[in-house]
Amino acid sequence: MVKVTELCTGCVQVITNPICPYCFSRHVITWMRDKNIPKEKMSNIKRLLKDLVREAEQTPSGIRCILCGSKRVNLCVYCYTNKASRIVEKNVDPETMSSFNEDFETIIWRV
Ligand SMILES: [Zn+2]
Ligand SMILES: [Zn+2]
Repeated sequence: MVKVTELCTGCVQVITNPICPYCFSRHVITWMRDKNIPKEKMSNIKRLLKDLVREAEQTPSGIRCILCGSKRVNLCVYCYTNKASRIVEKNVDPETMSSFNEDFETIIWRV
């Protein structure tokens, strides 16, 4: 059982399935491998995702990530998906983007 005591810094809702930005960006990067994304776009996205992780590290929280046990969860999956999709959107074509939205919507409901 995960004890929820803190709120998301994005939407101020209780974080029920804490996943840290680091684990989440790994999800995104794994997802990108099957897509036809040009190399330079890929590294663009990776760089921006790293910025997100760094941002999260600057506002540490007491919530442990359910995947890696790190204490860097300060955003809920919804907010993180939102931020990640804005990054991905700028670097992929609309077709890839809609598949991102589809895939990550199902990830949200699964975790
Ligand atoms: Zn949130
Ligand atoms: Zn994690």
